[in-house]
Amino acid sequence: MIIDFHFHLARRNELYRDVYQFCEKVWEKEGGSFLDIVNGDIDEYLKSQGVDYAVGLAEISPITTGIIDNEEVIEICKRNKRLIPGGNINPYMVRSVREEVKRLHKMGIRVIKLYPTYQYFYPNESFLYPLYDAAQQLEIPVMFHTGSSIFKGARIKYGDPTFLDDVAVDFPELKILLVHGGRGFFYDRAFFLAKLHKNVYLEISGLPPQNLLKYYPDMEKIAEKIIFGSDFPSTGNVKKLIDMIKKLPLSTESKKKILGENAKKILKLNGGKKI
Ligand SMILES: [Zn+2]
Repeated sequence: MIIDFHFHLARRNELYRDVYQFCEKVWEKEGGSFLDIVNGDIDEYLKSQGVDYAVGLAEISPITTGIIDNEEVIEICKRNKRLIPGGNINPYMVRSVREEVKRLHKMGIRVIKLYPTYQYFYPNESFLYPLYDAAQQLEIPVMFHTGSSIFKGARIKYGDPTFLDDVAVDFPELKILLVHGGRGFFYDRAFFLAKLHKNVYLEISGLPPQNLLKYYPDMEKIAEKIIFGSDFPSTGNVKKLIDMIKKLPLSTESKKKILGENAKKILKLNGGKKI
């Protein structure tokens, strides 16, 4: 089974111009348009890429990249059987983060992604603790953007994985994904946290697969903690990335875990897709 844990459901009118233009340039090289995919049959696209399930992501980042709201994500995921809804909570735009987790859960959101670098907060701030508490109780995994971003206005200081150490310690049952694996200059910190804490995972979207062993020379040792994601649409077609991972000098078993088995457990997909 192949699962893409990081698939942005971004459309043209919702992305800021520079973000849209960046993605458009990537897709020019691919000889297609990502808009045709997101506005068309996403299930068909995922099937063509060999992807069984993908986590479709919301993003409410009005000061950096744009807005794709949770309601829209749910609606798109209902139409596409292969998509699992991934919600976003911008902590400055809701009255109660705890109530928002409960609301998203009721709507059918299965994963929450937080964007500290795009929405400007440190992940270990106390006002976020009710969010983590509710997510832990409802068994909703939380993804955190860590490391760099090329988009205007993103601030790297909020993406230091070290802040997630507090969250991992205080919420030992909460599944925490370090998105982009500390991209830039936090690779070692992200790897160390995933190795240290049983509830912390290293998500490798947005990293060139051919460089993974350079960033994480011991990645085989924590293969059960590494999660594949594409960061569609900013990285082009998903299949190309999957093929590159398949070529890495790792055991077949490890590659299976990275490409889907680990995600299947985190998402509890045994009973099929629930929405
Ligand atoms: Zn992303």
